[in-house]
Amino acid sequence: MPSANSLIRMRDTSGLVLDLIRSGGEISRVELAGQSGLTEASISRIVRELLDGGVILETGFGLSTGGKRPTLLKVNNRSRHAVGAFLGESAVHYVLADLGGSVVATLETAGVAHSSLQDLLRRMPAELDKLIRASGVPVDSLVGVGIAAPGRRELGTIPRYDELRDFVDWDWRQIEAELAASTGLAVAVENDSTCAAIGEYWVSGASATEHFLVVNLSIGFGCGLVTGGDVYRGASSNVGEIGHMTIDWDGPQCPCGGHGCLEVLAAPARVVAQALEIDGLQGRLGLSAEKGDHWSDFERIAAAAMNGDAQAVDLVEHSARALATALVSLTNVLDLQRIVLTGPGFDVAGEIYARITREVLEARALIRNAHTFEVRLSASRHGSAALGAATLAIHQQLGGSRRSRALLGT
Ligand SMILES: [Zn+2]
Repeated sequence: MPSANSLIRMRDTSGLVLDLIRSGGEISRVELAGQSGLTEASISRIVRELLDGGVILETGFGLSTGGKRPTLLKVNNRSRHAVGAFLGESAVHYVLADLGGSVVATLETAGVAHSSLQDLLRRMPAELDKLIRASGVPVDSLVGVGIAAPGRRELGTIPRYDELRDFVDWDWRQIEAELAASTGLAVAVENDSTCAAIGEYWVSGASATEHFLVVNLSIGFGCGLVTGGDVYRGASSNVGEIGHMTIDWDGPQCPCGGHGCLEVLAAPARVVAQALEIDGLQGRLGLSAEKGDHWSDFERIAAAAMNGDAQAVDLVEHSARALATALVSLTNVLDLQRIVLTGPGFDVAGEIYARITREVLEARALIRNAHTFEVRLSASRHGSAALGAATLAIHQQLGGSRRSRALLGT
Protein backbone atom coordinates (compact mmCIF):
# COMPACT_ATOMS: atom_id res chain seq x y z
CA MET A 1 0.00 0.00 0.00
CA PRO A 2 1.42 3.48 -0.84
CA SER A 3 2.35 5.63 2.15
CA ALA A 4 0.35 8.75 2.98
CA ASN A 5 3.23 10.86 1.71
CA SER A 6 3.41 9.11 -1.61
CA LEU A 7 -0.36 9.49 -1.99
CA ILE A 8 0.00 13.21 -1.38
CA ARG A 9 2.79 13.36 -3.97
CA MET A 10 0.64 11.52 -6.51
CA ARG A 11 -2.24 13.89 -5.83
CA ASP A 12 0.02 16.93 -6.16
CA THR A 13 1.48 15.62 -9.42
CA SER A 14 -1.96 15.05 -10.87
CA GLY A 15 -3.02 18.50 -9.68
CA LEU A 16 0.05 20.08 -11.28
CA VAL A 17 -0.80 18.49 -14.63
CA LEU A 18 -4.40 19.63 -14.35
CA ASP A 19 -3.23 23.15 -13.52
CA LEU A 20 -1.05 23.19 -16.62
CA ILE A 21 -3.95 22.04 -18.78
CA ARG A 22 -6.22 24.69 -17.23
CA SER A 23 -3.71 27.46 -17.82
CA GLY A 24 -2.68 26.20 -21.26
CA GLY A 25 -6.21 26.19 -22.68
CA GLU A 26 -5.25 23.45 -25.13
CA ILE A 27 -2.00 21.58 -24.65
CA SER A 28 -0.29 18.37 -25.82
CA ARG A 29 1.26 15.61 -23.72
CA VAL A 30 4.74 16.57 -24.96
CA GLU A 31 4.20 20.18 -23.89
CA LEU A 32 2.94 18.94 -20.50
CA ALA A 33 6.09 16.90 -20.02
CA GLY A 34 8.26 19.88 -20.96
CA GLN A 35 6.44 22.29 -18.65
CA SER A 36 6.05 19.95 -15.68
CA GLY A 37 9.46 18.30 -15.72
CA LEU A 38 7.74 14.89 -15.49
CA THR A 39 8.59 12.00 -17.81
CA GLU A 40 6.36 11.35 -20.83
CA ALA A 41 5.43 8.00 -19.26
CA SER A 42 4.21 9.73 -16.08
CA ILE A 43 2.31 12.30 -18.13
CA SER A 44 0.64 9.53 -20.14
CA ARG A 45 -0.50 7.78 -16.97
CA ILE A 46 -1.84 10.95 -15.32
CA VAL A 47 -3.56 12.12 -18.51
CA ARG A 48 -5.22 8.71 -18.84
CA GLU A 49 -6.53 8.98 -15.26
CA LEU A 50 -7.86 12.49 -15.89
CA LEU A 51 -9.47 11.38 -19.19
CA ASP A 52 -11.03 8.35 -17.51
CA GLY A 53 -12.40 10.63 -14.80
CA GLY A 54 -13.89 12.94 -17.44
CA VAL A 55 -12.02 15.94 -15.98
CA ILE A 56 -10.24 16.61 -19.30
CA LEU A 57 -11.07 16.02 -22.96
CA GLU A 58 -9.13 15.34 -26.14
CA THR A 59 -10.05 18.16 -28.50
CA GLY A 60 -8.17 17.55 -31.75
CA PHE A 61 -4.67 17.76 -33.12
CA GLY A 62 -1.94 20.38 -32.81
CA LEU A 63 0.73 21.28 -35.36
CA SER A 64 3.32 18.64 -36.15
CA THR A 65 6.90 19.37 -35.18
CA GLY A 66 8.18 16.68 -37.55
CA GLY A 67 6.37 13.49 -36.56
CA LYS A 68 2.79 12.63 -35.86
CA ARG A 69 0.48 15.56 -35.02
CA PRO A 70 0.02 15.72 -31.22
CA THR A 71 -3.39 15.25 -29.61
CA LEU A 72 -4.49 18.35 -27.70
CA LEU A 73 -6.06 18.21 -24.25
CA LYS A 74 -8.33 20.69 -22.49
CA VAL A 75 -10.28 20.84 -19.27
CA ASN A 76 -13.88 19.64 -19.38
CA ASN A 77 -15.36 22.60 -17.50
CA ARG A 78 -18.77 21.05 -16.93
CA SER A 79 -17.32 17.83 -15.49
CA ARG A 80 -16.95 19.11 -11.95
CA HIS A 81 -18.68 21.80 -9.90
CA ALA A 82 -18.38 23.34 -6.47
CA VAL A 83 -20.44 25.61 -4.27
CA GLY A 84 -19.13 28.77 -2.64
CA ALA A 85 -20.96 30.55 0.18
CA PHE A 86 -20.20 33.98 1.57
CA LEU A 87 -21.47 34.48 5.13
CA GLY A 88 -22.61 38.11 4.98
CA GLU A 89 -24.31 40.03 7.78
CA SER A 90 -27.40 40.91 5.75
CA ALA A 91 -27.35 37.93 3.34
CA VAL A 92 -25.67 34.61 2.74
CA HIS A 93 -24.68 34.42 -0.94
CA TYR A 94 -24.31 31.05 -2.62
CA VAL A 95 -22.69 30.44 -6.00
CA LEU A 96 -22.49 27.13 -7.84
CA ALA A 97 -19.59 27.28 -10.29
CA ASP A 98 -17.98 24.94 -12.80
CA LEU A 99 -14.36 23.99 -13.25
CA GLY A 100 -13.76 27.00 -15.50
CA GLY A 101 -15.03 29.52 -12.92
CA SER A 102 -18.36 30.12 -14.66
CA VAL A 103 -21.36 30.70 -12.41
CA VAL A 104 -24.07 28.10 -13.04
CA ALA A 105 -26.55 29.09 -10.29
CA THR A 106 -26.87 31.50 -7.38
CA LEU A 107 -28.98 31.73 -4.22
CA GLU A 108 -29.36 34.45 -1.61
CA THR A 109 -30.72 33.70 1.85
CA ALA A 110 -30.97 35.46 5.22
CA GLY A 111 -27.75 36.91 6.60
CA VAL A 112 -25.91 35.75 9.68
CA ALA A 113 -26.54 38.89 11.76
CA HIS A 114 -27.99 37.81 15.13
CA SER A 115 -27.82 34.17 14.07
CA SER A 116 -26.35 31.41 16.18
CA LEU A 117 -23.88 28.96 14.68
CA GLN A 118 -26.35 26.15 15.39
CA ASP A 119 -29.06 27.94 13.37
CA LEU A 120 -26.65 28.42 10.47
CA LEU A 121 -25.52 24.80 10.50
CA ARG A 122 -29.17 23.68 10.63
CA ARG A 123 -30.29 25.70 7.63
CA MET A 124 -27.26 25.46 5.35
CA PRO A 125 -27.80 21.83 4.21
CA ALA A 126 -31.34 22.67 3.05
CA GLU A 127 -30.14 25.83 1.29
CA LEU A 128 -27.33 23.94 -0.43
CA ASP A 129 -29.82 21.29 -1.52
CA LYS A 130 -32.12 23.96 -2.96
CA LEU A 131 -29.26 25.58 -4.91
CA ILE A 132 -27.99 22.27 -6.30
CA ARG A 133 -31.48 21.12 -7.36
CA ALA A 134 -32.20 24.45 -9.05
CA SER A 135 -28.88 24.34 -10.93
CA GLY A 136 -29.67 21.00 -12.55
CA VAL A 137 -26.04 19.84 -12.28
CA PRO A 138 -25.49 16.16 -11.41
CA VAL A 139 -24.88 15.79 -7.68
CA ASP A 140 -21.94 13.46 -8.34
CA SER A 141 -20.16 16.29 -10.21
CA LEU A 142 -19.92 18.30 -6.97
CA VAL A 143 -16.47 18.18 -5.43
CA GLY A 144 -17.05 20.32 -2.38
CA VAL A 145 -18.20 23.48 -0.66
CA GLY A 146 -16.04 26.53 0.05
CA ILE A 147 -17.16 29.01 2.69
CA ALA A 148 -15.90 32.58 2.66
CA ALA A 149 -15.94 34.13 6.11
CA PRO A 150 -14.13 36.81 8.07
CA GLY A 151 -11.31 35.57 10.23
CA ARG A 152 -7.86 34.17 9.84
CA ARG A 153 -6.72 30.60 9.22
CA GLU A 154 -4.15 30.95 11.99
CA LEU A 155 -6.91 31.59 14.55
CA GLY A 156 -9.60 29.46 12.88
CA THR A 157 -12.40 31.64 14.20
CA ILE A 158 -15.07 33.95 12.83
CA PRO A 159 -15.65 36.95 15.11
CA ARG A 160 -19.41 37.48 15.59
CA TYR A 161 -22.25 38.86 17.64
CA ASP A 162 -24.69 36.04 18.36
CA GLU A 163 -28.48 36.08 18.63
CA LEU A 164 -28.21 37.48 22.17
CA ARG A 165 -25.85 40.17 20.80
CA ASP A 166 -22.97 38.77 22.80
CA PHE A 167 -19.57 38.63 21.16
CA VAL A 168 -18.60 35.08 20.24
CA ASP A 169 -16.15 33.25 18.02
CA TRP A 170 -17.41 30.67 15.52
CA ASP A 171 -15.01 27.81 15.03
CA TRP A 172 -13.92 27.15 11.40
CA ARG A 173 -13.20 23.51 12.15
CA GLN A 174 -16.65 22.94 13.67
CA ILE A 175 -18.32 24.42 10.57
CA GLU A 176 -16.19 22.25 8.29
CA ALA A 177 -16.80 19.06 10.26
CA GLU A 178 -20.54 19.46 10.92
CA LEU A 179 -21.42 20.65 7.44
CA ALA A 180 -19.37 17.88 5.85
CA ALA A 181 -21.19 15.34 8.03
CA SER A 182 -24.64 16.71 7.18
CA THR A 183 -24.09 17.15 3.42
CA GLY A 184 -21.60 14.41 2.58
CA LEU A 185 -19.48 17.01 0.75
CA ALA A 186 -15.95 18.20 1.52
CA VAL A 187 -16.19 21.62 3.20
CA ALA A 188 -13.42 24.19 3.64
CA VAL A 189 -13.64 27.63 5.26
CA GLU A 190 -11.42 30.34 3.78
CA ASN A 191 -10.73 33.97 4.57
CA ASP A 192 -13.32 36.11 2.75
CA SER A 193 -10.78 38.64 1.45
CA THR A 194 -8.64 35.93 -0.14
CA CYS A 195 -11.79 34.45 -1.67
CA ALA A 196 -12.90 37.88 -2.91
CA ALA A 197 -9.54 38.41 -4.64
CA ILE A 198 -9.83 35.10 -6.46
CA GLY A 199 -13.48 35.75 -7.35
CA GLU A 200 -12.66 39.21 -8.69
CA TYR A 201 -9.98 37.69 -10.88
CA TRP A 202 -12.57 35.42 -12.47
CA VAL A 203 -15.38 37.95 -12.86
CA SER A 204 -13.15 40.77 -14.11
CA GLY A 205 -11.45 38.73 -16.83
CA ALA A 206 -8.06 40.05 -15.65
CA SER A 207 -4.98 38.85 -17.46
CA ALA A 208 -2.41 36.65 -15.74
CA THR A 209 0.19 39.40 -15.96
CA GLU A 210 -1.79 41.97 -13.97
CA HIS A 211 -1.01 42.98 -10.40
CA PHE A 212 -4.00 44.15 -8.44
CA LEU A 213 -5.31 44.52 -4.94
CA VAL A 214 -8.84 43.66 -3.88
CA VAL A 215 -10.09 45.48 -0.77
CA ASN A 216 -12.94 43.62 0.87
CA LEU A 217 -15.18 45.40 3.38
CA SER A 218 -17.50 43.19 5.38
CA ILE A 219 -17.49 43.58 9.15
CA GLY A 220 -13.96 44.91 8.82
CA PHE A 221 -11.35 45.69 6.18
CA GLY A 222 -9.35 42.95 4.50
CA CYS A 223 -7.50 42.67 1.23
CA GLY A 224 -6.18 40.12 -1.21
CA LEU A 225 -3.30 40.56 -3.61
CA VAL A 226 -3.34 38.98 -7.05
CA THR A 227 0.04 39.05 -8.69
CA GLY A 228 1.08 37.40 -11.93
CA GLY A 229 -1.99 35.16 -12.05
CA ASP A 230 -1.75 33.92 -8.49
CA VAL A 231 -3.11 35.01 -5.14
CA TYR A 232 -0.37 35.90 -2.69
CA ARG A 233 -0.63 33.85 0.52
CA GLY A 234 2.39 34.85 2.56
CA ALA A 235 4.12 32.45 4.93
CA SER A 236 1.00 31.10 6.65
CA SER A 237 -2.04 32.10 4.55
CA ASN A 238 -2.69 35.01 6.88
CA VAL A 239 -2.11 37.88 4.46
CA GLY A 240 -4.48 40.77 3.91
CA GLU A 241 -4.75 42.42 7.30
CA ILE A 242 -5.03 45.91 5.85
CA GLY A 243 -7.33 46.71 8.79
CA HIS A 244 -4.30 46.67 11.05
CA MET A 245 -2.16 49.06 9.05
CA THR A 246 -1.24 51.99 11.24
CA ILE A 247 -2.84 55.20 9.99
CA ASP A 248 -2.22 57.28 13.13
CA TRP A 249 0.58 55.94 15.33
CA ASP A 250 -0.66 58.04 18.22
CA GLY A 251 -4.29 57.03 17.69
CA PRO A 252 -6.66 54.91 19.78
CA GLN A 253 -5.54 51.45 20.85
CA CYS A 254 -6.61 48.52 18.71
CA PRO A 255 -7.33 45.00 20.04
CA CYS A 256 -4.37 43.80 17.94
CA GLY A 257 -2.02 45.70 20.25
CA GLY A 258 -1.32 48.53 17.83
CA HIS A 259 -2.53 52.11 17.87
CA GLY A 260 -4.49 54.01 15.24
CA CYS A 261 -5.09 50.99 12.98
CA LEU A 262 -7.40 51.47 9.98
CA GLU A 263 -9.90 49.19 11.75
CA VAL A 264 -10.28 51.35 14.88
CA LEU A 265 -10.40 54.56 12.85
CA ALA A 266 -12.64 53.65 9.95
CA ALA A 267 -14.41 50.26 10.10
CA PRO A 268 -18.24 50.23 10.06
CA ALA A 269 -18.43 49.89 13.87
CA ARG A 270 -16.25 52.99 14.25
CA VAL A 271 -18.31 55.00 11.76
CA VAL A 272 -21.41 54.16 13.82
CA ALA A 273 -19.67 55.06 17.10
CA GLN A 274 -18.68 58.43 15.64
CA ALA A 275 -22.25 59.02 14.45
CA LEU A 276 -23.62 58.34 17.93
CA GLU A 277 -21.34 61.05 19.35
CA ILE A 278 -23.01 63.69 17.16
CA ASP A 279 -25.99 65.34 18.84
CA GLY A 280 -29.30 64.40 17.27
CA LEU A 281 -27.87 62.20 14.51
CA GLN A 282 -29.06 58.93 16.04
CA GLY A 283 -32.68 60.10 15.99
CA ARG A 284 -32.46 61.82 12.63
CA LEU A 285 -30.98 58.76 10.86
CA GLY A 286 -32.99 56.22 12.89
CA LEU A 287 -29.92 54.43 14.28
CA SER A 288 -30.62 51.59 16.67
CA ALA A 289 -27.36 51.98 18.66
CA GLU A 290 -27.91 48.45 20.00
CA LYS A 291 -24.85 46.31 20.55
CA GLY A 292 -24.41 44.04 17.54
CA ASP A 293 -26.57 46.27 15.30
CA HIS A 294 -23.71 48.32 13.92
CA TRP A 295 -24.03 46.73 10.48
CA SER A 296 -27.57 47.97 9.85
CA ASP A 297 -26.70 51.30 11.49
CA PHE A 298 -23.67 51.62 9.20
CA GLU A 299 -25.88 51.00 6.16
CA ARG A 300 -28.29 53.73 7.34
CA ILE A 301 -25.41 56.20 7.67
CA ALA A 302 -24.08 55.17 4.24
CA ALA A 303 -27.54 55.65 2.70
CA ALA A 304 -27.86 59.10 4.29
CA ALA A 305 -24.43 60.01 2.90
CA MET A 306 -25.48 58.94 -0.59
CA ASN A 307 -28.57 61.17 -0.18
CA GLY A 308 -26.32 64.12 0.59
CA ASP A 309 -26.76 64.40 4.37
CA ALA A 310 -23.76 66.58 5.23
CA GLN A 311 -22.96 64.97 8.59
CA ALA A 312 -23.25 61.46 7.16
CA VAL A 313 -21.08 62.46 4.18
CA ASP A 314 -18.40 63.71 6.61
CA LEU A 315 -18.44 60.39 8.49
CA VAL A 316 -18.20 58.21 5.39
CA GLU A 317 -15.59 60.44 3.73
CA HIS A 318 -13.50 60.30 6.92
CA SER A 319 -13.62 56.49 6.81
CA ALA A 320 -12.79 56.53 3.09
CA ARG A 321 -9.79 58.87 3.66
CA ALA A 322 -8.38 56.51 6.26
CA LEU A 323 -8.72 53.62 3.81
CA ALA A 324 -7.18 55.69 1.01
CA THR A 325 -4.22 56.56 3.27
CA ALA A 326 -3.54 52.85 3.77
CA LEU A 327 -3.88 52.30 0.02
CA VAL A 328 -1.35 55.01 -0.84
CA SER A 329 1.26 53.09 1.17
CA LEU A 330 0.29 49.74 -0.33
CA THR A 331 0.32 51.15 -3.85
CA ASN A 332 3.76 52.66 -3.32
CA VAL A 333 5.09 49.40 -1.90
CA LEU A 334 3.48 47.04 -4.40
CA ASP A 335 3.43 49.08 -7.65
CA LEU A 336 -0.20 48.17 -8.28
CA GLN A 337 -2.10 48.66 -11.55
CA ARG A 338 -5.56 48.32 -10.13
CA ILE A 339 -7.46 48.46 -6.85
CA VAL A 340 -10.90 46.88 -6.70
CA LEU A 341 -13.30 47.64 -3.85
CA THR A 342 -15.64 44.76 -3.10
CA GLY A 343 -17.73 43.23 -0.33
CA PRO A 344 -21.09 44.21 1.17
CA GLY A 345 -19.55 47.10 3.13
CA PHE A 346 -19.27 48.99 -0.17
CA ASP A 347 -22.84 48.17 -1.21
CA VAL A 348 -24.44 51.45 -0.26
CA ALA A 349 -21.70 54.10 -0.25
CA GLY A 350 -19.03 52.34 -2.33
CA GLU A 351 -19.07 55.22 -4.81
CA ILE A 352 -17.89 57.60 -2.07
CA TYR A 353 -15.08 55.22 -1.06
CA ALA A 354 -14.02 54.80 -4.69
CA ARG A 355 -14.06 58.56 -5.39
CA ILE A 356 -12.05 59.47 -2.28
CA THR A 357 -9.56 56.64 -2.90
CA ARG A 358 -9.09 57.80 -6.49
CA GLU A 359 -8.61 61.45 -5.44
CA VAL A 360 -6.11 60.61 -2.70
CA LEU A 361 -4.11 58.20 -4.84
CA GLU A 362 -3.99 60.62 -7.76
CA ALA A 363 -2.61 63.29 -5.45
CA ARG A 364 -0.22 61.23 -3.33
CA ALA A 365 0.74 57.82 -4.77
CA LEU A 366 4.23 57.91 -6.26
CA ILE A 367 3.30 55.54 -9.10
CA ARG A 368 1.09 58.24 -10.65
CA ASN A 369 4.25 59.40 -12.44
CA ALA A 370 5.19 55.89 -13.64
CA HIS A 371 2.01 54.43 -15.09
CA THR A 372 -1.75 54.71 -15.08
CA PHE A 373 -3.77 52.91 -12.46
CA GLU A 374 -7.40 52.28 -11.81
CA VAL A 375 -9.62 52.32 -8.72
CA ARG A 376 -12.81 50.44 -9.38
CA LEU A 377 -15.92 49.42 -7.51
CA SER A 378 -16.59 45.72 -8.11
CA ALA A 379 -19.52 44.78 -10.30
CA SER A 380 -20.05 41.72 -8.11
CA ARG A 381 -19.79 42.95 -4.54
CA HIS A 382 -21.94 40.10 -3.24
CA GLY A 383 -20.73 37.30 -5.41
CA SER A 384 -16.98 37.60 -5.69
CA ALA A 385 -16.13 36.07 -2.30
CA ALA A 386 -18.61 33.22 -2.91
CA LEU A 387 -17.19 32.54 -6.38
CA GLY A 388 -13.65 32.61 -5.03
CA ALA A 389 -14.63 30.12 -2.31
CA ALA A 390 -16.10 27.79 -4.95
CA THR A 391 -12.95 28.06 -7.05
CA LEU A 392 -10.77 27.23 -4.06
CA ALA A 393 -12.96 24.22 -3.23
CA ILE A 394 -12.56 22.89 -6.77
CA HIS A 395 -8.85 23.45 -6.70
CA GLN A 396 -8.31 21.81 -3.33
CA GLN A 397 -10.42 18.77 -4.13
CA LEU A 398 -8.77 18.21 -7.49
CA GLY A 399 -5.38 18.34 -5.86
CA GLY A 400 -3.86 21.46 -7.34
CA SER A 401 -0.81 22.98 -5.74
CA ARG A 402 -1.87 25.86 -3.48
CA ARG A 403 0.90 28.06 -4.80
CA SER A 404 0.44 27.26 -8.46
CA ARG A 405 0.26 30.21 -10.86
CA ALA A 406 -2.51 28.35 -12.59
CA LEU A 407 -4.79 28.48 -9.55
CA LEU A 408 -6.50 31.34 -11.30
CA GLY A 409 -6.21 30.09 -14.86
CA THR A 410 -5.01 32.49 -17.53
ZN1 LIG B 1 -4.96 46.73 14.88
